[in-house]
Amino acid sequence: MFSHVPPYPGDPILSLMEAFQQDPRFAKVSLSIGLYFDEAGRLPVLDCVRQAGELLAREQSPSGYLPIEGIAPYRQLVQNLVFGTQHEAVRSQRIATVQTLGGSGALKLGADFIKHYFPDAEVWLSDPTWDNHLAIFQGAGLRTHSYPYYDAATGSLRFDAMLDTLRSLPSGSVVLLHASCHNPTGVDLSRAQWQQLIPVIVERGLIPFVDMAYQGFGDGLDEDAWSVRALADAGAQTFVANSFSKNFSLYGERVGGLSVVCSDAATAGNVLGQLKATVRSNYSSPPTHGARLVQQVLASPQLSAQWAQELAQMRGRIKDMRAQLHGALHERFGERRDFGFLLTQRGMFSYTGITEPQVHRLRDEHGVYLIRSGRMCMSGLSGANVQYVADAIAKVLE
Ligand code: PMP
Repeated sequence: MFSHVPPYPGDPILSLMEAFQQDPRFAKVSLSIGLYFDEAGRLPVLDCVRQAGELLAREQSPSGYLPIEGIAPYRQLVQNLVFGTQHEAVRSQRIATVQTLGGSGALKLGADFIKHYFPDAEVWLSDPTWDNHLAIFQGAGLRTHSYPYYDAATGSLRFDAMLDTLRSLPSGSVVLLHASCHNPTGVDLSRAQWQQLIPVIVERGLIPFVDMAYQGFGDGLDEDAWSVRALADAGAQTFVANSFSKNFSLYGERVGGLSVVCSDAATAGNVLGQLKATVRSNYSSPPTHGARLVQQVLASPQLSAQWAQELAQMRGRIKDMRAQLHGALHERFGERRDFGFLLTQRGMFSYTGITEPQVHRLRDEHGVYLIRSGRMCMSGLSGANVQYVADAIAKVLE
């Protein structure tokens, strides 16, 4: 009966992780998967989350079904975090927010909603983008295209070409934008560039869909959400997918949110209702535990201050590893090759310019694992391995 079902080729990044785990060499470094590791190479359990867990354990609340749209105070806290408590759109209650299964769940929910209510809309993604963006939007039945973004020759943005493409799109096209810490390149728009981009979105009647999977990993919680807030300020009716996988180190709990900024509170009520219908027909209602943990932290001034501090530490460590790798490579290459991009890119990822054959050599000869595109996850670096990685890179680039 299932003879026509082909084998799953596997997810390239997850398969690489398995290969890494099975690699018997002592000297090996994983710089592939997008997880934040601490200096000791472990996935951290944030202390604020541990305390929130202890509080929850004491309460022993039953696990009944949550409302379809998720926990009400959690949804409000998500809005406050994404848009800022004082934002006009928050205060006038014109944002519909639903608790989702991580950032991926938010993207899928938004994609399903778009397919239903804007069936002819086509989706424009940055070139390159996170692979799963294609799979999620195409999986919802939407056509996808890419707009110019990264310039491999200079390591910077093809901003003019990006703007030209967006200017040429039919009204009602969906444009997927990364709020900050672009995955996979690490290259973000500057504020001045956002200020040029946003009027084009508004004037052309495009539908912005902002993916914010790394809030707090770039410059700070408010700083990284600046683009989202600027879009809402400009009157853009915007979809925002946010994730707590990385900034709370709660990957497996699947916690996130989808917020849709609408023109007024009544419309937001209708949109919320139809998002509920979309959830209901997909998985009925979201899980309890992860959202309760995040809620405990965000609702407590003491725990949320502690969270901001722990997040600042993660962000600081990534910046420090960027500086250390840059220093180590500068020592080896001097003026012969410029690695300044390591310092200007933001977030966990860096497009290194290392080619696919060089990626293979790094893995085969040195046990240093990057993904095929040459994307490096900076948080796999530590004081203990950065010199080794710089040596390996020098050997394959020379
Ligand atoms: N968007 C981007 C750009 C990502 O990098 C990721 C995680 N790799 C996600 C969304 C999905 O996050 P989550 O794990 O919360 O589903």
